Amino acid sequence: MKNILSCRSKNISYSHTIEMSYKARKLKNEGYDIINLSLGEPDFLPPKFILDAAKKAIDDGHHYYTPVSGCYDLKETICKKFYRDNNIKYDPSQIVVSTGAKQSIINVFLSLLNENDEVLIPSPYWVSYVEMVKFCDSNPIIIPTSIENNFKINPRQIEKYITHKTKLFVLNNPCNPTGSIYSYNELKELVDIFLKYPKILILSDEIYEYINYIKNTSTTSIASFSEIYNQVITLNGLSKAFSMTGWRIGYIGAPSWIAKSCDKIQGQMTSCPNSIAQRAAIVAINASPLSIKYMIKSFENRRNIVLDLIKEIDGLQFNKPDGTFYIFPKISNLFGKKLKGKIIKNSYQFSEFLLNKIHVSTVGGIAFGDDKYLRISYSSSEKNIIKAFTRLKNLINN
Ligand code: PMP
Ligand code: GLU
Repeated sequence: MKNILSCRSKNISYSHTIEMSYKARKLKNEGYDIINLSLGEPDFLPPKFILDAAKKAIDDGHHYYTPVSGCYDLKETICKKFYRDNNIKYDPSQIVVSTGAKQSIINVFLSLLNENDEVLIPSPYWVSYVEMVKFCDSNPIIIPTSIENNFKINPRQIEKYITHKTKLFVLNNPCNPTGSIYSYNELKELVDIFLKYPKILILSDEIYEYINYIKNTSTTSIASFSEIYNQVITLNGLSKAFSMTGWRIGYIGAPSWIAKSCDKIQGQMTSCPNSIAQRAAIVAINASPLSIKYMIKSFENRRNIVLDLIKEIDGLQFNKPDGTFYIFPKISNLFGKKLKGKIIKNSYQFSEFLLNKIHVSTVGGIAFGDDKYLRISYSSSEKNIIKAFTRLKNLINN
């Protein structure tokens, strides 16, 4: 039969992060010694108290549909967490729990975006924002940043991109792929800009909130500035902080008219998130962030190892990431050069080359909006990181 897929389906591309990790997995299954630094996925077991809670949920009989937007006691727990960690007051009616933060994002986009609306996205950005905006027949408007400015947008620059069609601004703090974190003062400057445009909403993706290495600071949530509260949707989830990627729990706190719409859409698309994972989420979110400090400390050690190793590799320019578990070096100095008989042309081809030649899986910067870079995830073991960077150094320096 002729390909009669919808334009919507044809217009979005495969997720590069997922594509690269598939390729890595396939080669690994074929027996190659692959080091997978493409996927942003913590390698820890979720803490034991969370596993116990999930087992108990099965024994207690939590096998059935829950309310679409999540169990009431989970939503109450999320409200307490938002107040405890982020100084934001939400009511359970403002919370929607979904099957991963990815579903939370598409719920928000489907709730707000009409054809040809514009969504401001600072670049480098996480892969799926742009594709999801396109999926909603809207237009991603990319605001470039520079490595010199630690990949943060200059608030004065934003107004240049605002038009009467601008509906939403996507803020990812801490940022995947750059690891940059906006300070309180930098966020305040953004708040002052967006207060001038009360019809523009802000989606604040804070899924890496706890993975912050700046001494004695926690990540500031933009919704904690009370003057902008009504314009903000705050997004978080369990994937990164609790190493629960496969459990698929994400959630938003939002103005209730947006939460209601997300609830309605989710009710038609997927219904409630997994009932067992919700019971475990109550225990996870209720716990003190100190209970996962050992993971954050370990990511920080790995970040420091990466910084030591990467500076020995010729021609790469990089910033010290303040959070997340990614580093985003500039590789464009290598373009036009010959490595093992192959001319390096762009970030996509370079990451494929690394996978095939030295069996290290990464993701080309093009997936994140900048072809001059490469994303390397250090959510793998120290041993794997050292092995991967040694292979990289041997390839590039020779
Ligand atoms: N936002 C960012 C910035 C991410 O890196 C990811 C990837 N996990 C998500 C959202 C989606 O997370 P989830 O696993 O909860 O769908
Ligand atoms: N968010 C992770 C990443 O950026 C997981 C893959 C994905 O969901 O895109 O690698």
